[in-house]
Amino acid sequence: MKTQPTGRPISTGNCAFCKAEIAKNKMMQHLKSCKQRLATIATHEEKSQVTKTRLFHILAEGQYNPQYWLHFEVVASEPLWSLDDFLKDMWIDDLDHLSGFTINGTDYSADYPDEFFPLNDVEYPKEVEEVEISEEEKEKKTRELIDEIISTFTAESASYLGIPLNPAPLSAEWIVEIKKPHSVNELVTFLKEEQARLTKETKIVRRDNQDISPEVERSRYFSLYYQKLIVEALLEAIEDRSMGVSLESVLKIGQKFSYVYDYGSSTYIKLRVIAEREGIVPNKKKSVQLLARNNAYEFPCTICGKPATTVAMGYFTNSIADSVFCTQCANKHIKESGMLPITNSPRAGVL
Ligand SMILES: [Zn+2]
Ligand SMILES: [Zn+2]
Repeated sequence: MKTQPTGRPISTGNCAFCKAEIAKNKMMQHLKSCKQRLATIATHEEKSQVTKTRLFHILAEGQYNPQYWLHFEVVASEPLWSLDDFLKDMWIDDLDHLSGFTINGTDYSADYPDEFFPLNDVEYPKEVEEVEISEEEKEKKTRELIDEIISTFTAESASYLGIPLNPAPLSAEWIVEIKKPHSVNELVTFLKEEQARLTKETKIVRRDNQDISPEVERSRYFSLYYQKLIVEALLEAIEDRSMGVSLESVLKIGQKFSYVYDYGSSTYIKLRVIAEREGIVPNKKKSVQLLARNNAYEFPCTICGKPATTVAMGYFTNSIADSVFCTQCANKHIKESGMLPITNSPRAGVL
């Protein structure tokens, strides 16, 4: 096996089109220029009558064991569920555990109620949930919700929240801005931008406080604080955090995100959207297409250096390479802890 200057073996994989064996760090470049792949794409485009679809090219890898990786293309309008299914198909044998994605600071998980406005204190009549809510209806409810949340965080609630009183924590301009007519998606985008701005400005107030009086500093700080409370409460209430959200509504090119399978003995996966294109999906039932995958890794036994066959159960946040043994050494040295066969997955070693 080839090794890097650090002594760690180089991870290689096969291109799904030409079957060539390519080093992990060269695979993206290869996929861009692979003749076989380009020919396949050209053939699909010639034959097909259907219109092109937006596709994301995503790289997934084990967070602690990046020698396990997948390049794939997925239809951008698909929900996160499709990605969840694909990662489980490729890497996870046991399917008893919960999973979820974290994208841009927001968690999207399987156990989140997949409905509009899951805020407990906002009650809608049962029949409203069952029928399709119109866009206008949604906007009206969103405005009502904004009013409700803003009124919760007025100056009067300062003592209740344990915050020093600030007579005018919210500027009229800001309230107008937040209440401008938005669709739910636009409002979510706006709120996320506001969240980023408020975090940044809070840091600036803390840092550049030499030139202003303590009263002004306090007043600025608490204005930002109130705005942040409102932004977060609104996001919590209106943002769909189920895996029913479409990839294109939460991802863009360059976006890094993560996936966790099992919140107990967790397997952590890092993902990144590395390219996108308009293309033909050859099989409509298959929304994800594998482009390349790492080859099964050959680890040396940590005791004798012979090819390892088994892995000690229970590593989660370090390299699998430190817990692998050949059959002989495993029989001789490892008595108590359970052993599992080494699988080609970042979940290897976890029962
Ligand atoms: Zn190729
Ligand atoms: Zn050994």
